[in-house]
Amino acid sequence: MKAESRQSRLRVFARRTRMTPDDDCSFIGMPGFGHPLPGIRMVEISVTFTWDKAYGERLLQEWQQFYPDVRLGGPAYDDPGDSFHPGRFLKQGYVITSRGCCRSCWFCMAARREGPIRTLPIAEGSDILDNNLLACPRRHIEEVFGMLRSQRMVRFSGGLDCRLFRPWHAEAIRSLSLRNLWFAYDDPSCQKDLERAVVMLGLSREKMGCYVLAGYPGDTIEKAEIRVRRIYEIGCMPFAMLYRDEAGSRLDLAWRRWGRQWCRPALIKYAMKKENYGEAGEGEGSERGIIPDGRGIPAAGDTARAVPALRLVGRVSAIQETEGRHHAALREEGNESGGDERPIDGVQGFPR
Ligand code: SF4
Repeated sequence: MKAESRQSRLRVFARRTRMTPDDDCSFIGMPGFGHPLPGIRMVEISVTFTWDKAYGERLLQEWQQFYPDVRLGGPAYDDPGDSFHPGRFLKQGYVITSRGCCRSCWFCMAARREGPIRTLPIAEGSDILDNNLLACPRRHIEEVFGMLRSQRMVRFSGGLDCRLFRPWHAEAIRSLSLRNLWFAYDDPSCQKDLERAVVMLGLSREKMGCYVLAGYPGDTIEKAEIRVRRIYEIGCMPFAMLYRDEAGSRLDLAWRRWGRQWCRPALIKYAMKKENYGEAGEGEGSERGIIPDGRGIPAAGDTARAVPALRLVGRVSAIQETEGRHHAALREEGNESGGDERPIDGVQGFPR
């Protein structure tokens, strides 16, 4: 897009996430003072989450009072995303190099919205948000790694499909200035593939995270606890993502508390260390004077010990919340709903 035409458009987002652009032409929510701005020809409202659609309609009405050409779209409206413009609907640095997916997981809209995997021109950026980069042709993946070699603190926030992970991917990733990468453990049948990928990479748990979907119909806190603990034992830092249906119904308080505990790396590390060694070592917890009371996180399947352990971690979590949300490296990904609100049904755009 030409700079000139870019200045004549406003982009409006239903809510702010860490990926939302923060330039002068980006706004969150309702129009404030100062509108209409001179020279603006079009307003694009982007709605990411399906449960924000009603709010999106209200935004449309409000913004139409100031500008004649206001458009409503985004992933929540099944936008297939034909192109990607860096900095337009995602902050500079985030990049999408492919759309669609080769799978159709029941809880995910990526393939249903965007169709089979297709590649896009590769823009510069250090945080890859593709639905399933590893499902792309090898040549495309190699070109993406080529672009990433010129970037610092590379992240794969979109997640890598451990079932498609191969030794050459591991080699290419090790050649990058890597901040962290993410796998997904949405289906326990992926466990062997995840273990294999972790061994291939041979990186520390601080660099390898794993999204763990939890709270879907039929799931229980005990079952989810076993899954996140398994991830930790495999060598990845688990990151709970609480399930929300299309209407955006939130899980109950117990689930939200549990989700908060399992999306804070420092807290997880502290609790796991305590369980393994009887006391916390030099982790953040002890630095802040958070003294354990002699109980740890329960062993997998040990539901008899689950409740006191959850209470312990819940208390530490509450202390950390009152301290602020800006300490741990990955804390920025969490939010008050517990777990991440990373859109599991596609990432933000209009089109991106
Ligand atoms: S969850 Fe991942 S692998 Fe499954 S359909 Fe969505 S993007 Fe594809």
